[in-house]
Amino acid sequence: MRRRFFNAPMIKTALRSLFKAPATVKFPTAPMEYGEIYRGIIENDIEACIFCGMCVKKCPAGVIDVIRDEKTWSIDRSGCIQCANCVTNCPKKCLKMVNVAPAAMTEQSVESLVNA
Ligand code: SF4
Ligand code: SF4
Repeated sequence: MRRRFFNAPMIKTALRSLFKAPATVKFPTAPMEYGEIYRGIIENDIEACIFCGMCVKKCPAGVIDVIRDEKTWSIDRSGCIQCANCVTNCPKKCLKMVNVAPAAMTEQSVESLVNA
């Protein structure tokens, strides 16, 4: 089959694209905008946390760690699948999902909160 060199619809689209804003953003150098259905990242109101460990038990990705004696709650954000199961099962309702982008990361990073 002979290939068509002149493809009118494609040229029309290419020309139109020259005058339109880009469809993508230069994340992470430019801020990312997420729609309403984007769940976001987990935040913990550590003052309200009782370190019961329910979120640890309910997290399917195993990325939360709680040390009750040290009043420490930690999350490995690189492994979180944003399912919100921890939020749903927290008895103190101190976990929530915030509609912001997780920081760009190249390696595993654990964030710890301590109720001092
Ligand atoms: S389930 Fe809620 S109260 Fe319990 S340890 Fe997790 S964040 Fe804290
Ligand atoms: S959102 Fe899901 S994967 Fe992320 S910490 Fe909570 S339970 Fe674990």
